[in-house]
Formats: sequence, C-alpha cells, structure tokens
Amino acid sequence: MARYVQKYGGTSVGSIERIQAVAERVARFKAAGHQVVVVVSAMSGETNRLVELAAAIQDDPAERELDVLLASGEQVSVALTCMALLQRGIQARSYLAHQVAIRTNGQHTRSRIEKIDTERLQRDLEAGCVPVVAGFQGVDADGDVTTLGRGGSDTTAVAVAVAMGADECQIYTDVDGVYTTDPRVVPSARRLDRITFEEMLEMASLGSKVLHPRSVEFAGKYGVPLRVLSSFEDSGDGTLITTEESHAMEQPIISGIAFARDEAKITIQGAPDVPGVASKMLGPVSAMGIEVDMIVQNVGADGQTDFTFTVKRGDYADAMKIVLGVVEDMGAGDVTGDNRIVKVSAVGVGMRSHAGVATKMFDALARENINIQMISTSEIKISVVLDEKYLELAVRAIHEAFELSGEAREEA
Ligand code: ADP
Ligand code: ASP
Ligand code: MG
Repeated sequence: MARYVQKYGGTSVGSIERIQAVAERVARFKAAGHQVVVVVSAMSGETNRLVELAAAIQDDPAERELDVLLASGEQVSVALTCMALLQRGIQARSYLAHQVAIRTNGQHTRSRIEKIDTERLQRDLEAGCVPVVAGFQGVDADGDVTTLGRGGSDTTAVAVAVAMGADECQIYTDVDGVYTTDPRVVPSARRLDRITFEEMLEMASLGSKVLHPRSVEFAGKYGVPLRVLSSFEDSGDGTLITTEESHAMEQPIISGIAFARDEAKITIQGAPDVPGVASKMLGPVSAMGIEVDMIVQNVGADGQTDFTFTVKRGDYADAMKIVLGVVEDMGAGDVTGDNRIVKVSAVGVGMRSHAGVATKMFDALARENINIQMISTSEIKISVVLDEKYLELAVRAIHEAFELSGEAREEA
C-alpha cells in the first residue's frame, strides 16, 4: 500500500467526461489498495474567464476581492470530482482551503503556504475516504481567502504531499511528462525520464509552466518524489523529478530550453555615473513589490551611464511610472522601454563541466539572424532576451543546436 497525492490540472478536469476519467483513475488506485488524496485546479479556461470579469470592472482589480473571485473556480471542480467518485461507490469528501486548513501568509494573489493541518485528511484516509482538496487557494491568519499565483495548484499538491508524508506526488496534466522544451513549440521535443530538482526548478522559474516553481522548490526541500504524468493516457511512467543526476555515460550538457513570453525592459540612458543611482532606480521599484529580473549597466563615459532592467510584462506600466518619477527627480536621463521582448534560456547541470556552451547558443541565434538584446548566466543556465517575434525560431534553433530532439510526437 502506498500513499499518493494526485493533482489534476485544468484540462484534466475540463469537462464532465474528463472528471469521470479522473474518478476512474482514482478508483483504480483505491482498488489496488492505495490511499489517495486528490488536488484539483479549476476547469480549463475558468480562471482566465474570472480574471476577465474582474478586469471588465476595475483596471487594477482589488487583490483581496480578486482572490475571492479566482478561488471560486476550484470550488466547482472539487465538488464535481467528489460527485463522480461517490457515483462509483467511493467515499469522497471535498475541502476548500479553510476547511483543511491550508494557512498562507496574507499576501494576496501570490501567497505562500505556511502550514497545513492534516487532521481531517488523515482521518479520511484512515476511514477509506478520498479527500478532494481545492488547489491554488489558501486562508490567512485573518480567515481571508488568498491564492498562490497562477499555476499554484501544483504547489498545493506538493505541500499536501509533504504534510501527509506521501510516498509520491503525481502531477497529472495534458502532456505525458517534462520535455526538453514545450512540445507545443517544438513537436520533436523529447520526453525526459528523469530530471533533477535543481534543473526543474530552473526550468520552471525561467518559464516552463508544466510545473509551478514553488512546487519544485518544496518537493526538493522536503525530498518528496514528484512525477509528471498524462491524465489522458494510462501508459508510461512520465517524468520523475529526482535528486540524482543522470547515470548515463554522458551527462547531457543541456537538459532543456525554457522560455518566458511575458517580459518587458526599461532603459535609462544618460543617468549620472555616481554611487547610489542603481539603488535610487530599483529601490522604489522593489518597494512596490515588482520583481526585477536581469540588470545591465554599461561602463560609464563622460560622467554618464546606461542602465537596463527587465520586469514581468504585467508590471511594466507601474515600473515605468516609478522610473520616470525618479529620473525627473534626478533631473537627468532618458527613459525608453519595450514590452515586446521574451526570454529564452538553456538549462543543464552538465554545463558546469563544459566550456563553450554559451558560444554554441549564440552561434545558433546568429545563424538565424536573431539579435540578442541582453544576456545573463549562472552555473546551470544561460538566458537571452530577444524581440518576441523571434521566440519560436530561437527556441527551435537552440533546441536543434544542442541535439535535444527525439522522434516526432504524434499530436494528442
Ligand atoms: P495544468 O492545467 O495541467 O496545470 P499547464 O498548462 O499548467 O497544465 O502545464 C502543462 C503545459 O505546459 C503543457 O501543455 C505544455 O504546453 C507546457 N510546457 C511548457 N514547457 C514544457 C516542458 N518542458 N515539458 C512539458 N510541457 C511543457
Ligand atoms: N486555476 C489556477 C490557474 O489557472 C491554478 C492552477 O491551475 O494551478 O492558474
Ligand atoms: Mg499548471
């Protein structure tokens, strides 16, 4: 007997038919003698629909109310999933975050889980009942509803798996594992049998939305085996995220290519080249809760310097407003911006022991005549910022340069 936490994403509960298929799988695990806790997302498209409703009323929706609105999507899917299980004669009970409870810090729209009470879930499992928990939502110390950020149901699942001492956390989705890059962009991308937590965390943080970054961080920190599987097919072991590096004779240099479409950059030209300018610019941006990603400052000349940084596209307008204010106060500098940029990254622990990885990536882009706007590197990744029109071409070119393709997948 094993204890599993199974998370089903939006497409996997996107219709009554898909919810029935979820119930069928849970029934099979139960019949094999396993204990199962289910975590579900909202039905596909629902969270986007709710976001649009909010935007139709308020330009910048009140975050507390947005959380109450968005959390409603998961309330529908937990109830329907329980009904599908009950209809099969399986005991099941739905739980919203406050009923578990899943405690979060109070930060609306990007809350962090602090603690999960496991009592009711434990009691259910011992009684042979399947608890079905709403993903993505939490409750703060005041009893207010919070959400964990888009894609956050993965994190709910891993946090529940950690708290319940599960043997494995299974993430069921619309692809049968983690691929060398998004198979929707490169159809010949190859499924990985295994990937290290370190690489997966980097891929997820750099934009591969197959897993929510915090879920990978949690699973790695607490050593919970994490597996990505298809809810549409029953064959295959999916991809296991593990602490072990590949035992293959040759560790691949690059494991995968990640990309983020929603980037923007802001440049300040002719800023005074004196101590404290970077902090004057970026301090107020960070103070607004805006995450600054890449930062580049040029060598100064004539007492002036240029300075560029990137933020998420959704934060572009706010960041721009702040920077324009600072530049006006300083009485120097020209501000320009571009919110049509993307970030493409090559990730791999094998990079540590190989030179020339960056050159290979830059050559691949040069051959396609793609201009690199910014570069950032770490021990296990190289990221470049490009004009958004080159995204697909760049990902394919880099994927090919590192020979990551497998056999072409059949379209699902
Ligand atoms: P869910 O609703 O199940 O959480 P998501 O849409 O959040 O599903 O994540 C699954 C999607 O992630 C896939 O359909 C795929 O397009 C995308 N994806 C991006 N990068 C990768 C990758 N490296 N491997 C597999 N899928 C990826
Ligand atoms: N329903 C939420 C979203 O669409 C959470 C999730 O799917 O993981 O972002
Ligand atoms: Mg997801």
